[in-house]
Amino acid sequence: MKKIQMVDLNGQYQSIKEQVNSSISRILDSAAFINGPEVHAFQQELESYLGVKHVIPCANGTDALQITMMGLGLQPGDEVITADFTFAATVEVIALLQLTPVLVDVELDTFNIDPAAIEKAITPKTKAIVPVHLFGQCANMDAILALAEKHGLYVIEDNAQAIGAKYSSADGHKYVAGAMGHVSATSFFPSKNLGCYGDGGAIFTNDDALAHTIRGIVNHGMYERYHHDVVGVNSRLDSLQAAVLRAKLPKLDAYNEQRRKAAMKYTQALEGLTNLAVPKMGNACSSICDDCDCHVFHQYTLRILNGNRDGLVKHLNSKGIPCGVYYPIPLHRQKAYLDSRYNEADFPVTNQLVEEVISLPMHTELDDEQITFITDAVKEFIADA
Ligand SMILES: *Cc1c(COP(=O)(O)O)cnc(C)c1O
Repeated sequence: MKKIQMVDLNGQYQSIKEQVNSSISRILDSAAFINGPEVHAFQQELESYLGVKHVIPCANGTDALQITMMGLGLQPGDEVITADFTFAATVEVIALLQLTPVLVDVELDTFNIDPAAIEKAITPKTKAIVPVHLFGQCANMDAILALAEKHGLYVIEDNAQAIGAKYSSADGHKYVAGAMGHVSATSFFPSKNLGCYGDGGAIFTNDDALAHTIRGIVNHGMYERYHHDVVGVNSRLDSLQAAVLRAKLPKLDAYNEQRRKAAMKYTQALEGLTNLAVPKMGNACSSICDDCDCHVFHQYTLRILNGNRDGLVKHLNSKGIPCGVYYPIPLHRQKAYLDSRYNEADFPVTNQLVEEVISLPMHTELDDEQITFITDAVKEFIADA
């Protein structure tokens, strides 16, 4: 059996090696490293894949989130509501801009921000909601967009883990993750579903004026050369990363289908066991299609209900199976984000999840033998515990 990896970037590289290598040498010869034609081509290809009017590439997903908030003109003291159970980047940029982060609880079955908790947290100072499509599955966007409309709030989708995911709205339409809010941020960090070979990110929006504002912000607040109209940042995607992304984008749906297939195999082997909950999947078809909700499984995350998640981590590691705990500490308990307004009783689900979650290896190169080895090891532990 091939050695099991949490993420297998090399296997994927082997299948696109010729294209990536030849693009890279072409770029080296052209010396157009920044703002070259490669970045522009990638931008257009991603716009057409997503069906959004504007993609603005930038340096990483964290910048992408920060720049969306700068572009919307959020001001110090404005409150921004986001999930307590997510990667810290989301709350970090809110705090950096001196906005006020307001963390709220999530749902037990999807791990995503709970619309009821959002509604309770809305005050006259609230300006935006940042749903994170965690682990590859869209948050409850119908409810979130309805709340935003009712209270006049912006919705900024953190789409770092869900590029290529789809959402079926109660209105009968299927939407692409990242095309539902006012603006969306994504990351091309190597291990993301669409990853480059370094750092990269992008912002998406259908709003022409906002896109124009953001294009200036990513480039030192310049709309005309050496005229700085607003305070901006330096946040660019470089041509070498764009070349890698151009090779991968046409395969993104196939990559996400491979993830869904692996997830379905995990679930078939593990569902129904006591002491364990498999992740909610939306629908049981492996394809990325227009007919259903498509969870793209950035992570495949179980809940271990017997109180011995950490024992399972050790058991898997002892068998050479890597795994991850995303996330072990709720953001409201992180030193940097402590706030006397938070009350432990407001975060029952996040407090439970940090004790229960474990993510199994998930990538495009997992084979049946590896999946069986992993699920057998999980079953053995659950039966013994
Ligand atoms: C990865 C990630 C980010 C940040 O992306 P970087 O490119 O690493 O800056 C933001 N939000 C979430 C939910 C992420 O998973």
